[in-house]
Order: sequence, then structure tokens, then C-alpha cells
Amino acid sequence: MTVRTRIAPSPTGDPHVGTAYIALFNYCFARQHGGQFVLRIEDTDQARSTEHSEQVIFDSLRWLGLEWDEGPDKGGEFGPYRQSERSEIYRQHAEQLLAADHAFKCYRTAEELNELRAAIKVSGENRALKYADLVLSPDEQKKREDSGEPFVVRLRVPDTGKCVVEDMLRGEIELDWSTVDAQILLKSDGMPTYHLANVVDDHLMKITHVIRGEEWINSAPKHKLLYQYFNWKMPVLCHLPLLRNPDKSKLSKRKNPTSILYYQRMGYLPEAVLNYLGRMGWSMPDEREKFSLAEMQAEFDIKRVSLGGPIFDLEKLSWLNGLWIRESLSVEQLADRLIEWGLNRQRLLEVVPHVQTRIETLSDFLPATSFLGAGMLALNEDDFSGNKLELKEQIKVLQFSLWRLDQLLDWHRDDIFAALKGLAEQLDVKLKLFLAPLFIAVTGTTATFSILDAMVLLGSDMSRARIRHAINTLGGVSKKQLKAMDKEFKSLPSE
Ligand code: GLU
Repeated sequence: MTVRTRIAPSPTGDPHVGTAYIALFNYCFARQHGGQFVLRIEDTDQARSTEHSEQVIFDSLRWLGLEWDEGPDKGGEFGPYRQSERSEIYRQHAEQLLAADHAFKCYRTAEELNELRAAIKVSGENRALKYADLVLSPDEQKKREDSGEPFVVRLRVPDTGKCVVEDMLRGEIELDWSTVDAQILLKSDGMPTYHLANVVDDHLMKITHVIRGEEWINSAPKHKLLYQYFNWKMPVLCHLPLLRNPDKSKLSKRKNPTSILYYQRMGYLPEAVLNYLGRMGWSMPDEREKFSLAEMQAEFDIKRVSLGGPIFDLEKLSWLNGLWIRESLSVEQLADRLIEWGLNRQRLLEVVPHVQTRIETLSDFLPATSFLGAGMLALNEDDFSGNKLELKEQIKVLQFSLWRLDQLLDWHRDDIFAALKGLAEQLDVKLKLFLAPLFIAVTGTTATFSILDAMVLLGSDMSRARIRHAINTLGGVSKKQLKAMDKEFKSLPSE
């Protein structure tokens, strides 16, 4: 048997460090067994998937050195590797399940579903929605079918009993069938859900080991059922522990930078980022902290993953990055890295248009743009005291902006402007006053080029990290204040 693993990211938003973490373990596992590592793009969520996001996933994984053997941009024997190009395959498989009565067409409206759920709740039962709840009388089913009403295809899930799934690291995982909904497999627009597409693809792409994040454990019973219904051999499952914030919550962009682009912009070396990700729940046999990808691959043993939630700690990463800079790069190599990182022609071409009219000598250039190359800015309260709004109001502007910016899917100038302008109007603050604290937070000064251009150049995670840093500089927000602000923010119409 040839070992085949895969990474299956959805191209929505920035490339996540969690994706790189899972990719690293899949990569090492495949390489160690002389197998293949596949990249599949799971873009069935058409509204949120973008080509740009897909491209950045490719670029980021390549920057880290995690090259795949087959994928959308490389082709391979089992393509296409982009789910949006495989709709017909999923439709055929859904038909197959329908014909065997393992799935059913469900014409229930959203309103009916709400009523059914409410009725289960009232009855005091703690169970999911099942076929028996959803099935219509034959007459009603025919009526809706004949009038061409929209329908979804759902999975027939057992009403009772236990499902046991085997996990490489966790042993047997048990789940009660009564808590598992009659899962939607095909949506009313004919697109598959994650579950159908994922299982069909893993099978057709001959994936032997599914190594993925812990958040997918609850999907495993549905997947197991699908493999049984199709009469296919199920790949070995392995759910890795989730990366966590220092407060042990799931690593999320609301609290910590999660985009690989942030780590690039911050000036971490790919070797150090990979090394750090390799330390997440895993260790070398001799416990050494610093190791390369090749060394990790050579010593890899997935059984040495420990299940306690690994903490993604920026200070630790910086320390490790420092080791790599000091111990593993010559002066020449470091100079080359600096050029590649921030002084390359492409970066200069992005930055120069914004300062050309503002500088008189070339020596003005670095001071005028130094905030672009910095990490967190050295700010203090005085930096904000020149602004017209009171400090309390400025904190509110920063916090509300942060929440609004968190919601942006794309980081384009126009979208950022619309989000901030809309928020200023909702809060009834003049745009200029509203933007002033953001200027300080993101650029350290109000005397620079457009804050929007600065944010675009810095990227989403770096801009938001600086806003969080500014809020902390201004004394932070207590839990009580945060709760009140959150309530007010949620009462605003979302953009
Ligand atoms: N598309 C899923 C994700 O975004 C893939 C999960 C899996 O590996 O099965 O993570």
C-alpha cells in the first residue's frame, strides 16, 4: 500500500497557521512512508471561496517548503483537485445513495425545520432531526416534487445505537447516533456539503490516512456511515489537537494573528515557523527545540503526538526565530533574507507610489515608511492625547473597528473604507475624528499617507494586531466594559 495523505483547505480568507500545522504533519507522515502528499481545494462554499485566497494558500505553503505531489496547479492522476470542478461526481454519488435508500430528498422549508426542532425541544428529548421527523406523506412529497420545489438530499442516519470510530491517536471514539442529524449531502443548489465531497474525494483520490484537526471528530461517524453505504474501505483517521491561544481557547483571529501572511510580514523565517509548528504537540526523540523540516521528517513518528492542546505562543516563536537568525544564517544569507523580505523590488513598487509626493530626498524614504517594516509599534497614551475624541471614546472606536474588520472576508481598500465609514456613521462620529486613533494605532502617526493604503500594505492580521496592541496601550478594556461594548456593537446593523 502506498501511503497517501492530503490537506484539504477551503480558500476563504487568509491562509491559517492551523492549515500549515496540519499540512506539516501530513507531509512528514507521507514522506516518511515514501508516499504522496496531495493538496485538494475544498471550495464548495461558492459564496466565500476566492481565487485570491486559493493562490495565497499555494504561496504560503510553498514559502514554508511544504510542497505537494498532486494538486490543482500541478495536476495528477486523480484530478481535478478543486471540488468546484467535481460537481458531477458528487451528484452521481448522491444519486447512488438515493437509489439504495441510504439518502432521501427532503422538501422541508426552513420554517418547517424550525418548527420540527422546536417540537423536539418541547418534548424534552435531546436528540437530532431524523428521517422519521422529516419524511412527508407520499401525497405531499409528490405535490412538492411536481411543483418543482427546492429540495436537499439528506443522509439516513440510524436513530439509536452507538457509532464507534477508530482514531490512530485516540483509540475508539464513541458517539450516540441519536445526536446526529440526517445530514445534508447535497444542497438545494446541487452543490455538495463538506461531508459528501470530502468522503467521495478521499476515496477516489486513494487517500489512506486522513490526518486533520480535532474539530472534525464529530463528523467522523457520518463519514464512517458514508463509507459503509458506499461499501468502501475507510482511510485511517487521525485527529490532531487544536492549536490554542495562551488562555487555552481555540486559536482564533479575534485574539491572535492566525494568518501565515502575518508571520511573513512580521519577519519570521519559514524554517522557524515550521520548526515551531513541529513543536506543537510533537517532539524530537531527544527533545531538542531546534530542528529543520528534513530532520523532523527523518525522525517523524505520529504516535509521539501528545493530545494536550498545544499553546501557540508568540514569544516562544520569536525566541526560536532568533536562534535561527543567529545560528543558522551567515551574514550574507541574512542580508539576502532581508532583501527578500522587505527590500525587494516588488515590495518597493507597492510602497513607493504612496510616498513619492511626500519626500524630498531618498533619505526621507526609510523614516517615512518605517512603520511598514516594524512589528508592534512603541506607543504610549500620549500618542493619542492629541486626538479630539476622549480616550474612552478612542478605545471604543478601536474596539468597534476591530470587530468590524474581523468580519471582512477580503482585505481590499474599498471594503475596509466602507466598513470604517459605515461604522463612523452608525456611531455618529465624524470620519476624520473616527480615523485619528486608528491612524496612531496602525502607523504611529497622523502625518502619513492614507490609513487605508497603510492597512492594505500591512495586511489584515498585522493591522488588527496593532489595533489590539493600541487598545492595550490605552489600558485595555475590562471584562465588564467589553460585555457592554459587545452588546452595543451587536445592536448595530451589520454592514
Ligand atoms: N475543508 C476542510 C477544512 O477546511 C477539510 C477538513 C478535513 O481535512 O477533512 O479544514
